Amino acid sequence: MPEVLSADNVSRRFSPHVTLGDRIATMFGAKLDRRPVMAVTNVTLSVQRGETLGLVGESGCGKSTFGRMLAGILEPSEGSITLDGAPPMLHGRKTTTRIQTVFQDPFASLNPRRRVGETITEGPITHGLIWRNEAARFAEEWLAKVGLDPAYAQRFPHQFSGGQRQRIAIARALAMRPEILICDEPVASLDVSIQAQILNLFLDLRQEFGLTTIFISHDLSIVRHVSDRVAVMYLGRIVELSDAATLYSAPKHPYTQALLDSVPKLSLDGNIGVTFQPIRGELPSPLSPPSGCAFHPRCFKATELCARERPHLQPSSSGGAVACHLFISK
Ligand code: SF4
Repeated sequence: MPEVLSADNVSRRFSPHVTLGDRIATMFGAKLDRRPVMAVTNVTLSVQRGETLGLVGESGCGKSTFGRMLAGILEPSEGSITLDGAPPMLHGRKTTTRIQTVFQDPFASLNPRRRVGETITEGPITHGLIWRNEAARFAEEWLAKVGLDPAYAQRFPHQFSGGQRQRIAIARALAMRPEILICDEPVASLDVSIQAQILNLFLDLRQEFGLTTIFISHDLSIVRHVSDRVAVMYLGRIVELSDAATLYSAPKHPYTQALLDSVPKLSLDGNIGVTFQPIRGELPSPLSPPSGCAFHPRCFKATELCARERPHLQPSSSGGAVACHLFISK
């Protein structure tokens, strides 16, 4: 499949926000840590047309920041993102409607004072996809496509449940006729029963519109359900990239293995119960990442080399890529 969206050696750093309290504290002699935080470091990755790429990792691993750069709503500090060769963001402005995004919190992403019909049609009218006099019918059609009553076009966001609001957010994104949809934790704030409905809607619409999708989630079981390939991120870097079936059946990187072990599983042998193995330790602060392999303080397989040298992402025997000294051919 041809590449459609590429990240080439992309990094993103954030400068610390200085508050009035910080300023006052420094006047009284306090020393504040003003070092920039690297949220994403040297990520190179291509998304192929028509595929769903899952992006997984713990909270704070940089996956959302990377997703926002791919979406053209955050500019890389270094490196480049290209959509068919052109950047999706230039000089602080998004340059394309070909990429749309669905975020975790549908309530925060919908304007509470705007009727949902207007929310769905605002972008298509602004970008000349529809005429203003077509808006009412257009909004009703999209509400029906996402499984809502077309009459809801006149309602406001607070009149809907979380799952319904996420359906509206999906309708708003797809009404722009994107080729690429980036979903950032789209079901994380929903009840489990509603999650399944939204995921099935996502799968149906992906098929109907032939979308390329990037699905960002901390939940490996959800990503497995929807992805063709999966990239695992740890402290701002990709540590494993593989087709989904291989990643889940034969994970290579110890962090991927630990993530999979941390997913609760129902055990039915003898004693019925739920088994899982939490990942040991905490995700280190990106302000002071560990030396060598950033995962080494939490890794059961770490050696002295791991604390000293950072392993680079290299092609693996299964056709993917892995960044671990255990898999680097000498
Ligand atoms: Fe563990 Fe070493 Fe591999 Fe890092 S490089 S994941 S510390 S074995």
